[in-house]
Amino acid sequence: MNKPFTNKILTWYDVNGRKDLPWKINPSPYSIWISEVMLQQTQVVTVIPYFLKFMDRFPSIDVLARSQLDEVLGYWSGLGYYARARNIYRASRILYLDNKSIFPNSYDEIIKLPGIGRSTAGAILALAYKKKFSILDGNVKRVLSRYYRVKGTLEKASIQKKLWDLSDINTPTKSIAKYTQGIMDLGATICSRSKPKCNLCPLSINCLARIYHEQDLLPSKKLRQKKKKKDINLVVIIDNEKSILLEKRQERGIWGGLYSFPEILDGQTCTSWVKEKLGININRIDKLPPIRHSLTHYDLLIKPNKIKLDSRLPETKNDEQLYWHKVPVDNNIGIAKPISSLINNL
Ligand code: SF4
Repeated sequence: MNKPFTNKILTWYDVNGRKDLPWKINPSPYSIWISEVMLQQTQVVTVIPYFLKFMDRFPSIDVLARSQLDEVLGYWSGLGYYARARNIYRASRILYLDNKSIFPNSYDEIIKLPGIGRSTAGAILALAYKKKFSILDGNVKRVLSRYYRVKGTLEKASIQKKLWDLSDINTPTKSIAKYTQGIMDLGATICSRSKPKCNLCPLSINCLARIYHEQDLLPSKKLRQKKKKKDINLVVIIDNEKSILLEKRQERGIWGGLYSFPEILDGQTCTSWVKEKLGININRIDKLPPIRHSLTHYDLLIKPNKIKLDSRLPETKNDEQLYWHKVPVDNNIGIAKPISSLINNL
């Protein structure tokens, strides 16, 4: 163990750690699991209200597993990366059916659960069970690659291994939870992506990135793959009683399992889609302003085609993925952010 490194983080955490974050108050393996998954790819400030609402509605594995996935996605709506919510739900079902809704306490069992990788498993074991497991989330990667001046993109297996080794040697046996929280907090609040506050950092004296003025160069940036562009044509149908027609999207693909306005696929037109699904002819379509929305791999251009029905809505023709919903739509279904905004502006 690199004692000075570890001790400095422990001392710094005593004074500066974010001990009032909701998942740090009365933590349980379940609450730590949910918070760790929410915090993957998402900032603390964004996660807090989602975490509080989620825990209020699904306070235990048992409650979560006996809920519907649609509702779980509803509580995740707007947080993005919806595979995380689907995996949490699947994992809760596994624990409910096979483990009496008890969160396991061994690495081998935890790592088998959907959506849990080595770092998340390590965080749960360290924070909830005080076991000596290291972590390597985005914040820890940044601190270690700067402090030790590790060059090379984080996607390379050799760099990953190097960082895991460094994480392992710095992780103490005692005060494991405090150290784990400390290095995560240091990465989030002091050793930030841009403009790290080296003058406030307990590691600054020996930090190689600071000594060589390479804070901005580390961790090495990966070559960004160009995002694909994708147009999404939507049929936005609203009737005279303010009900809208939503489609439950397939599990795989963009916004998997979420509800959206129906998408017109290649070879279809708005008119032909409405005729086929609702059996009516329409004579007016209003093209609403397109919406740009960026996902990890796609730049979307969402093109809404609004159709206003003057009379009560027709029944859908036995298509189980299409549902009428009264506006405002309640949160027992998952809806992606741009679709929610579209609904709110109708
Ligand atoms: S000295 Fe600066 S770059 Fe080095 S670990 Fe601290 S905040 Fe990060």
